[in-house]
Formats: sequence, C-alpha cells, structure tokens
Amino acid sequence: MADKKCLVFSGPSGSGKSTLIKYVLQTFESVVGTTVSCTTRQRRHSETDGIDYHFIANDEFDALVERGEFLEYTECYGNRYGTLKSAVHDVLRDKDLCVIDMDFNGACRILTENAVNEYACQGVLVLPPSLKTLENRLRLRKTETSESIKRRIDESFNAPRIARYEYVIVNNHLESALAEVREIVENLMPNLRSLEATAVSRKASV
Ligand code: ADP
Ligand code: 5GP
Repeated sequence: MADKKCLVFSGPSGSGKSTLIKYVLQTFESVVGTTVSCTTRQRRHSETDGIDYHFIANDEFDALVERGEFLEYTECYGNRYGTLKSAVHDVLRDKDLCVIDMDFNGACRILTENAVNEYACQGVLVLPPSLKTLENRLRLRKTETSESIKRRIDESFNAPRIARYEYVIVNNHLESALAEVREIVENLMPNLRSLEATAVSRKASV
C-alpha cells in the first residue's frame, strides 16, 4: 500500500464536494475510486442504496462499531455516518487513489491521528464563496427541507480547522474549482500525466 493514497474531502453541505468528487472519479476512472459510507440517515429519493450510501439501521451501525470495522465514524445533523476499513482497502486493492467524503470531525481525526491515518490521507477542504450561495445551492438541489437547510447552514462553519487540510478550494466558479481539484490529483500522482499521454496517443493511433 506504500504508494497508495487517500484524499479526504470535507466542507459544508452544499459546498460542492460530491460534484468535485464525481468529476475526479470520471476524469481519472482507471486509477481513482471512492468508498461508500454507511449511514443511519433516511435515503433521499435521488439516492440508491449501496451506491450513494449503505443505508443501515442504528443497531447494525452499533454492531459495526463494536466489531471495530469502521476506520472512523461520526454523528452529523442527528444521523450517524462511518467509513468502513474494508471499503478503503477494497478501493486501494484495485486503484491508486481513494477519495472519501467526510464531515469535519471524521476528517480531523483521520488527518491528525497517525494511528488512524494508516492510509496516508490528505485533506481537501471545499468552501462556498458565501453562506448565501450555500443556502441557494441547497434550495436548488431540492434534497432538503427548509428545516434541514437551516440546520446545515447553522452548523456549516462550526468546525473547519483549516490548518489540518493540505488543500482548500473555494468553489465559486465551477470550472475553476474543477481545474484546481484536477491539479491536486495530478500533483499527488505524478504518473497520471504519462498515463493520460499514453491513453491519448493510443486513441490517436486507432
Ligand atoms: P455537497 O456534496 O457538498 O453537499 P453538491 O456537490 O451536492 O454539494 O453541490 C450542491 C449543489 O450545488 C448541487 O446542486 C450542485 O450541482 C451545485 N453546485 C456545485 N458547485 C457549484 C458551483 N460552483 N456553482 C453553482 N452550483 C454548484
Ligand atoms: P449528507 O447527509 O448530506 O449526505 O452528508 C452529511 C455529512 O456527512 C457530510 O458533511 C458528509 O461529508 C458526511 N459524511 C458522509 N459520509 C461520511 C463518513 O463516512 N464519515 C464521516 N465522518 N462523515 C461522512
């Protein structure tokens, strides 16, 4: 696992983490994978069990905690979320980089406790340009009730201990944010550029 890496993405709900992660997964499909977290939260209509999350009951979550199966877990907005060690391991068996979506608490543990950070995780903090923008994006996404949006906005800047993150992206103009995240991944994995160049020249010669 020595040359394998993890990038942990955190940021307020609506800051654009999923959008950036999706872009990284699509752009670097052959070498980057992501984990599916477990959560006790209700599934949204747009979500699929096993793809967006493993939606599990509280007692199942307890059992996983007891058996020590989580790399980390947390409570966030009244629900529980956790990343399984096996999920990270499975991604890194096939890919070189694992991207993980994690709240501030989970990320801070991973990024500061060496014993937990056995996967050489680095942090990317994604921030919106303003609270008003955050609120508008959550409303447009149409996945949250007004009460849930208010709660997410109230809690959004509670604990981002910025110094713990290696990278900070202010997601204002999407194109610039995508370029920034692309650069982060390329710098982290110097072999990527040559892989891409090989893929392009292969395409050209077909
Ligand atoms: P998160 O995963 O952090 O909760 P999402 O990636 O779901 O956030 O983004 C929240 C909403 O904002 C989505 O509808 C997404 O399409 C939109 N969005 C993301 N980045 C931008 C941007 N730079 N400008 C405008 N809308 C954006
Ligand atoms: P949502 O309910 O909007 O999908 O996610 C709420 C929060 O939970 C987000 O901040 C997201 O980053 C975080 N989250 C999702 N999966 C995990 C996880 O496995 N561990 C931790 N610590 N946080 C998670």
